[in-house]
Amino acid sequence: MSNATTTYADFYRQSIDKPDAFWASQAKLIDWFKPFDRVCNYDNPPFAHWFEGGQTNLCYNAVDRHLKDRADQAALICVSSETGQEKTYTFKELHVEVQRMAASFRALGVQKGDRVLIYMPMIAEAAFAMLACARMGAIHCVVFGGFASGSLASRIDDATPKVIVSADAGSRGGKVVPYKPLLDEAIRLSSHKPEAVLLADRKLAPMAMVAGRDHLWNELRETHLDAQVSCEWMNSTDISYTIYTSGTTGRPKGVQRDTGGYAVALAASMKHIFDGRAGETYFSTSDIGWVVGHSYIVYGPLIAGMATILYEGLPTQGMDGKPDGAIWWSLVEKYRVTVMFSAPTAVRVLKKQDPALLKKHDLSSLRALFLAGEPLDEPTARWISEGLNVPIIDNYWQTESGWPILTIANGVEEKASKFGSPGVPMYGYRVKLLHESTGEELTKPGEKGVVVLEGPTPPGFMQTVWQDDERFVATYWKTVPGKMVYSTFDWGIRDKDGYYFILGRTDDVINVAGHRLGTREIEESISGHLQVAEVAVVGVADALKGQVAMAFVVPKDAGLLQDSAASLKLEKEIMKRVDDDLGAVARPARVRFVTALPKTRSGKLLRRAIQAVCEGRDAGDLTTMDDPAALEQIRDRVAAA
Ligand code: ATP
Ligand code: MG
Repeated sequence: MSNATTTYADFYRQSIDKPDAFWASQAKLIDWFKPFDRVCNYDNPPFAHWFEGGQTNLCYNAVDRHLKDRADQAALICVSSETGQEKTYTFKELHVEVQRMAASFRALGVQKGDRVLIYMPMIAEAAFAMLACARMGAIHCVVFGGFASGSLASRIDDATPKVIVSADAGSRGGKVVPYKPLLDEAIRLSSHKPEAVLLADRKLAPMAMVAGRDHLWNELRETHLDAQVSCEWMNSTDISYTIYTSGTTGRPKGVQRDTGGYAVALAASMKHIFDGRAGETYFSTSDIGWVVGHSYIVYGPLIAGMATILYEGLPTQGMDGKPDGAIWWSLVEKYRVTVMFSAPTAVRVLKKQDPALLKKHDLSSLRALFLAGEPLDEPTARWISEGLNVPIIDNYWQTESGWPILTIANGVEEKASKFGSPGVPMYGYRVKLLHESTGEELTKPGEKGVVVLEGPTPPGFMQTVWQDDERFVATYWKTVPGKMVYSTFDWGIRDKDGYYFILGRTDDVINVAGHRLGTREIEESISGHLQVAEVAVVGVADALKGQVAMAFVVPKDAGLLQDSAASLKLEKEIMKRVDDDLGAVARPARVRFVTALPKTRSGKLLRRAIQAVCEGRDAGDLTTMDDPAALEQIRDRVAAA
């Protein structure tokens, strides 16, 4: 291990007691054009400015600085089980492509500080575009390619991009999803109009080009084959990008990030948390449209000198387009992946496959699998941990934080994980639990409170809400009376060993006859039943009790939906289980069986929408929803009752 003599407890203490010395030392993990004068300026809380006076560049750190030692090593490995294509770019080749992209941007008028909105499938050009922006100091704003015109239009209006980069189409489950018509419609809907649109043509779908506005990357690239675009030296506190939150709980927020702090935070996390080493391969199954994609598909691994896999496709589809539940494991074998990052929702998909698929490939290169994005339930964690026989490391964070808040830093000191817990506070994070109404700090093990962070937040954390400092302060820092702390809006408890457990979002609380219960706790109890594949619990208004819990369960055996006797039996068993685990107040009023649950495109449960449907209300903005049929099914179940 890298710091054999340091215990994690010491490491963490240093980061909190002597933050300047701690972060100055972490800052050596990246290259600076000009050294910083001040580690952290926190003169105006809650705004933390990291590495003031320093100048650096994200693209330089991700690409250029590796040319000396690893020019011919793999950098970007693009694999699409949708098109069957597979292509590796070395650091040298990536350097060339990024400059071609940067030169094309320049030809379209992009300058330092301009916004470039990226609305793309998981193809190499998406990474080129992000890195090209970073190279020239343009602010990228990646919008998840699965979003429809309405969501895209509101983000265009918020980001006011000079140029939009897109493609003819994406593909999902073998079905071509044209992007261009969605983009055209979004631009029609938005008040802000981009000056130019740059399009990668994958020849998947025809494109109607708008004369004067639309340009083909395939053509522009040809005119810039030998382009040399040097890195713009950015102030550490200059904006690198904005990204919107998943929108699980409402109106998406434009999270704004700096340059130097982010680069240092990622470099440090690659070393201390992910334990990824230069020359190895990292595989994150996320999407560039999410924060995990920014931090751990594009920037983090490349900054660390690792190759990164950019994967387009389902976890259950082979390169020939035929079903293959082992596709990811085949990539681990082929590219000797050492660190893998996915989400519990993806593992639950794989769990429905034959477990023998986990043994089909040689996974000896793999050291750990990291999972994040939603609570990792114990049965899922056990299943994958036994199947892969490597540590499964849960990590808790947010779009806002940019890198893990709670996890296990095995790169500092190897520590056991605990099922159901993402782990302990990461260095630099002053994590506290506060009483929800008094705001008092909870210090005893097992006390449940709101997870908050005391400022200054560490490098890499959001700077502010894009163009709205007031919203940043009001939304995140003013929720506890008399205290300025950052609220995560999640519930948590801490055990006697300092491990945290996340119990769900603060707005996912049910109040049954005066008892406040987290939906997550009830879900955890239900998911322990062997016949349960997935579960969502929501609170539904009830005249007598205020609210009651309602459970929607996906049984492992879908046949159960047709068998009313078996359904009734399972419903009774589930209720008994909750009674035994949590007490009768937590017992769901009804358990309803469905074949799927409504989720966002990033795999997060849309409890808000389920609750609205149960209460006969409008489900609100559903453009981030993955599978509208799942919500319809719930509507039918509720109506049939
Ligand atoms: P919005 O803020 O727009 O409602 P969102 O919170 O879903 O969207 P993200 O920033 O992508 O958007 O998700 C962060 C949230 O996901 C966390 O606040 C937490 O609720 C949940 N989460 C992430 N990782 C974990 C984890 N390991 N365990 C439990 N919950 C997690
Ligand atoms: Mg959130």
